[in-house]
Amino acid sequence: MPFLGEEHCLRRWFARMYIMNTDEARQIVCDAGKKLIANGLVGGTWGNISCRIDDAKMAITPSGMSYETLGSDDIAIVDFSSDDVTWEGKHKPSAEMKLHIAIYRERKNIGAVIHSHSMNASTVAVARREVPPILDDMVQIIGPTIRVADYALPSTKKIVKKTMAALKGRNAALMANHGAVCIGRDMEEAFTCTFVLEKTCRAFIEAEFLGGAKTINKFEAHLMRQYYLRKYGKRNVDSD
Ligand SMILES: [Zn+2]
Repeated sequence: MPFLGEEHCLRRWFARMYIMNTDEARQIVCDAGKKLIANGLVGGTWGNISCRIDDAKMAITPSGMSYETLGSDDIAIVDFSSDDVTWEGKHKPSAEMKLHIAIYRERKNIGAVIHSHSMNASTVAVARREVPPILDDMVQIIGPTIRVADYALPSTKKIVKKTMAALKGRNAALMANHGAVCIGRDMEEAFTCTFVLEKTCRAFIEAEFLGGAKTINKFEAHLMRQYYLRKYGKRNVDSD
C-alpha cells in the first residue's frame, strides 16, 4: 500500500520538522514582527505573521495590534485540524488567518508565513505588474517571476483562492491593490523572502525610470532556482 507508506513518511517528517512548543512559536512570531519594523517592512498594524507548530496548529499575530507593543503572550494559537477552526489566547487571531491555514494545508514544507503591506511591494501590487526575473536572489528565493493575485476583498474565500493560485511554485506573491505574502520553511527564510521581495519591487520600479528592467533569461533563471532548492533543500523542500 504505497499510499499508507507515504502517509507514514509524512508523519515522521512532521515529527522531525515542526513539533515545537507553543511558547517557542509565540516568541518566534513576536520577534519576527519586531524585525520587520526594524527593517522598514511594515507600518502600523497592517499585515500578519504566523509560524507552524505542527501539521494542525499555528501561532499567529492578533487582529489590529502594533508589532511594536506586541508581547509573545498576545499571539494566538489556532487549531486548523478540521473545518471547524478554533483558537486560544488573549486576542482574536488575524482576520487573514484563512490564507495562512490554506498555505499550511497545501504547502506541507512551509513553516512560516508573512503577509506584509510594505511600500514597494504595494506599489507594484497597485500597478498589477507581474515582476519578471530581474535579480539573482529573487529568482533563487522567490521563483522565476512574482505573480499578482487578482483582486478580491480582504478576509474572503476568494482572496485565499486567488493568492494560492499566484503562489503556485513560488515563495511569494503580490495581492492586487493590497500587499504581499511571503513564505518559507522557517521564519528566517520567510523573512529573507519578504526582504528580497521588497528590494526586487523597488529595483523593478526604479529600473522603469532608467529605460526599463532587463530580464535574466528563463533558462538561467530556472537553473538558479533549481540550484538554490537543491543546495538549501536538504530539509524536504519541494519545488511545486
Ligand atoms: Zn493585508
